[in-house]
Amino acid sequence: MPALDFSDPFDVVVLGGGNAALCAAITAARAGCRVIVVEGAPEFYRGGNTRHTRNLRCVHDGTAPTMTGPYAREEFLDDLYRVTEGRTDERLARLTVARSSELLAWMDEQGVRFQPPLGGTLSLGKSNAFFLGGGRGALNALYRKARALGVVVVYDAPVIELVIESGHFMSATLKRNGKAQSVRGRALVAAAGGFEANIDWLKKYWGEAADNFLIRGTPYNRGEVLRMLLDAGVESVGDPTQCHAVAIDARAPKFDGGIATRLDSIIFGIVVNREGKRFYDEGEDTWPKRYAIWGRLVAQQPGQTAYSIFDAQSIRLFMPSIFPAIEAPTIAELAARLGLDPAALGRTVDEFNVAVHPGTFDHTRLDDCATQGLTPPKSHWARKLDTPPYYAYPLRPGITFTYLGVRVNEEARMLFEGGKPSANMFAAGEIMAGNVLGRGYVAGIGMTIGAVFGRIAGQGVSAYVRN
Ligand SMILES: Cc1cc2nc3c(=O)[nH]c(=O)nc-3n(C[C@H](O)[C@H](O)[C@H](O)COP(=O)(O)OP(=O)(O)OC[C@H]3O[C@@H](n4cnc5c(N)ncnc54)[C@H](O)[C@@H]3O)c2cc1C
Repeated sequence: MPALDFSDPFDVVVLGGGNAALCAAITAARAGCRVIVVEGAPEFYRGGNTRHTRNLRCVHDGTAPTMTGPYAREEFLDDLYRVTEGRTDERLARLTVARSSELLAWMDEQGVRFQPPLGGTLSLGKSNAFFLGGGRGALNALYRKARALGVVVVYDAPVIELVIESGHFMSATLKRNGKAQSVRGRALVAAAGGFEANIDWLKKYWGEAADNFLIRGTPYNRGEVLRMLLDAGVESVGDPTQCHAVAIDARAPKFDGGIATRLDSIIFGIVVNREGKRFYDEGEDTWPKRYAIWGRLVAQQPGQTAYSIFDAQSIRLFMPSIFPAIEAPTIAELAARLGLDPAALGRTVDEFNVAVHPGTFDHTRLDDCATQGLTPPKSHWARKLDTPPYYAYPLRPGITFTYLGVRVNEEARMLFEGGKPSANMFAAGEIMAGNVLGRGYVAGIGMTIGAVFGRIAGQGVSAYVRN
């Protein structure tokens, strides 16, 4: 790693190397600031969870060639209010939605390209713009632009200390090549994500069960910067005990399994725990509205494990996991392959099949195929499991992100306890997303919040530095 001269202070120190960090760095550099981006991960793994994304949600007038639409401000706000159920700062929510309308053009200016959505993407073509080449493609374009603007980027340099005096950022200490190195800056943008990869921190709320969680994204989002800011007296926002968790393929790696390990098979069959018993209505509502409850449901089962079971009628109806489904000619053999008690699974399937009330199956709407007299019921898409071969995917909770963050105002300025805005400390992205998204999720809003507040923070730091 080449030696870098940090003796002169930078105008702007940006912590993190994902979407929010890059949007802030590019905006500040375009305004003439000398900017450093401090990425904790090695270069190959740069970009945090942004690497795994596929799209961002934005207001648009329907003329974008890669989207259907239009998608109006009111619709976006309605979607946001519905999922957050009041846990949002209304001013910041309105700001996010309003400024999302600038993102397609702004991203395009930075070299990010979009494509029409592929099939199996939860019908998001109207509201969400899909990156050509996915999140990694978008990141590569943003890094190229940042470099061209003279932004200094250091990799493999986790921040281990922040020096903050009377609500004023002074310097950050990084660990590079095993040595601590101080970087001074006139202003700070914290964009270092949440704490979802910090199992010990998750254990505070989930106990030992957290050992069995899989983390869908980067192992580098351990929340160190968030912790330092909260310890320095920045106000917190968002429920610390909550995280967004979906059911993913249990064979996924501990970290970074990404989108390819998500399972959309649940509504097509039944889900049992390791005792071979069903525990929740698999057909309660359409999959986009329900997929995010299944992480928590699986987390509550013994061993934090469960199995999605379906038959040959459904194998082609959903986007599969990257791992092949486990297949067997009979339910008893399937149970044996999964390590379940064949008699227990056989009983559950028999009871389910008897309770299925015939209807007209249609997985694109809430159909009339439901069970009768079964607890828990299956309210839609209930078809007898009677067509071999039989299939299963093992499930585990897959953690996407955490909700705890730092409180900010409309200028993306961090607020210290008592609501006092810092003069030179700004935040963007997942580290402050809880201001807008206090609970729930609407697909694509993580990237929207990062880009909107990244740009606002970039404008804020450059205005501060110029004065
Ligand atoms: C599998 C998956 C799919 C997703 N798909 C979508 C999607 O399609 N659309 C969408 O909007 N959202 C999606 N999300 C959520 C999205 O990834 C986040 O909302 C978004 O990436 C947040 O951007 P960010 O820049 O704030 O954080 P990140 O992109 O996570 O970046 C955080 C950065 O901080 C760095 N860092 C952490 N600690 C330190 C430290 N101590 N010192 C220095 N650097 C540090 C990390 O290395 C990383 O570079 C998805 C998430 C996952 C896990």
